[in-house]
Amino acid sequence: MEGDDRERLLATMPLHAITSTYGEAGLRDRFAFEIASWAEADRRRMQRALDLAARLHADDRRDREPYVNHLLRVAIRIISYYGVHDAEVICAALLHDAVEDHAADLAAGGGGADLAAGGGGAELTGGRADQQAALAVLAAEFGPRVAELVGVVTNPPYARDRDEDEQYREHVADGLRDNPWARVIKASDFTDNGVGLIHTTGPRLHRLAGKYAPLVPVLADLIARPDTPLDAAVKEHIMAQLDRAAERFAAVRGDAARGRSLGMPELPEVETARRLIADLALGRRITGVDDADTFVCRPHSPGELRAALTGRTLTAAHRRGKTMWCETSGLDDSDLGPILGIHLGMSGRIVVTAPDGWVAEGGDPPGRDAEPRKAEWDRFTLEFADGGRLALFDKRRLGRIVLNPDLDRLGPDAAEVTTAEFRALITTGTIAVKARLLDQSKIAGVGNLLADEALWQAKVPPATPVSRLQRKDADRLYRAVRSVLASAAAKGGAHTGDVIAARRPGASCPRCGAEMVHGTVGGRSTWWCSREQAAWSPAPADSASRQPAARRKGIF
Ligand SMILES: [Zn+2]
Repeated sequence: MEGDDRERLLATMPLHAITSTYGEAGLRDRFAFEIASWAEADRRRMQRALDLAARLHADDRRDREPYVNHLLRVAIRIISYYGVHDAEVICAALLHDAVEDHAADLAAGGGGADLAAGGGGAELTGGRADQQAALAVLAAEFGPRVAELVGVVTNPPYARDRDEDEQYREHVADGLRDNPWARVIKASDFTDNGVGLIHTTGPRLHRLAGKYAPLVPVLADLIARPDTPLDAAVKEHIMAQLDRAAERFAAVRGDAARGRSLGMPELPEVETARRLIADLALGRRITGVDDADTFVCRPHSPGELRAALTGRTLTAAHRRGKTMWCETSGLDDSDLGPILGIHLGMSGRIVVTAPDGWVAEGGDPPGRDAEPRKAEWDRFTLEFADGGRLALFDKRRLGRIVLNPDLDRLGPDAAEVTTAEFRALITTGTIAVKARLLDQSKIAGVGNLLADEALWQAKVPPATPVSRLQRKDADRLYRAVRSVLASAAAKGGAHTGDVIAARRPGASCPRCGAEMVHGTVGGRSTWWCSREQAAWSPAPADSASRQPAARRKGIF
């Protein structure tokens, strides 16, 4: 590519895209572009700060990339997305980890040992003395304000007798309270770390979520304050990102508490995905569509979805049961676009990327995959004109994308159905009550976990033929379904139900203490209380095949 073209492209590319396409060189070029019109003296100072940071962090890695990439993104985000034109803030952003990670190097290289000795360093512990000396070097080189900003975002050596994460959060909160500009640096730093979390899995993810989650409300409160020097629109953008971060941390930590993988996305998870689209993806013009996965996009041929959607925007996101669909805009004012149907399948998630690289997810709880995510698990992608994207991430490839889905095949939403409708739909025929609950054409939105939870709450045996249900049983089950759905939505998913943890061999009923039993009902793995849900239960295990199988229709 010609130099000018590359520069023009880099100037508008999202930071995560520059990182993955051009790496450190691309980020350096973007940084140079951002400051090209600034005063000569400011540019030289920022360049010196970048040089120093690159030297100090030369051997550091953040995940698999050079650490300086993180520093460049934090600085560029502040200039380009936060609209800040202040060389000292940018110098501090570039050096924000220099003292925390390399105090001794910085102190030694800058002649800081003398300063430390003269500054009462003798009574400080080694780490703290080095930090003071390093900050003095920065003050001499870049001015006292840069040193002060770096000092605020530097974590001190921790006291051994207290929880480190707690000390970290206290330090951040205290420092940011008094220094509005440090809040700006921390917000960009936090955003970059939030993006990084998406690419982290396993125990480390849970550990980081535990560390950062309590910081979100603190940071949100500080950003919202009138003396935080950012435009209202920028503050709003950051607040929205912090909301997403809180949701994601909650999902990750819920997953940790649950401890193992369970079930598929149920109604509350799908609602999370729908809300994510409604909050973050509407109104963004579609400039590219990857519909090459002909299995996920069946019956459409490759390019069909691209042709139908390019140039439009998503204008509304709806859900009934576990089925989502989006309305799209017309290509001019006069017509409406096609309906885009989305089904998450067994383990799909919706991933929406903002122009600045912030990634938010909804759907199947994240953190489940033991291995790093692969690009090919994005089964369908919309690319937006602003550089962000929306992807259906689905490792197991059981999600579906379809134009103009047949929504008439779905029953009323389980969260909205009335008592009378429920009674009529649930009691007709002779099928097992659990199988009926799972039949999406009757009532949409109850999956395997929610069905077990609701039947247990209502003390209804799962294999009861629906013809045997009395009116009071049906009404009790209706109330249980409603309350289970509301609780799962509030707590972050079907896995939070009271009996879910007891769906395992050897567990006892959380209510009466009797043994939990397992069998197959409606074709699905089912657990129930041996005492309170005893009648009509099939003998566990092998006789299960005699139970009526649920009609497990594809939704699309
Ligand atoms: Zn019980």
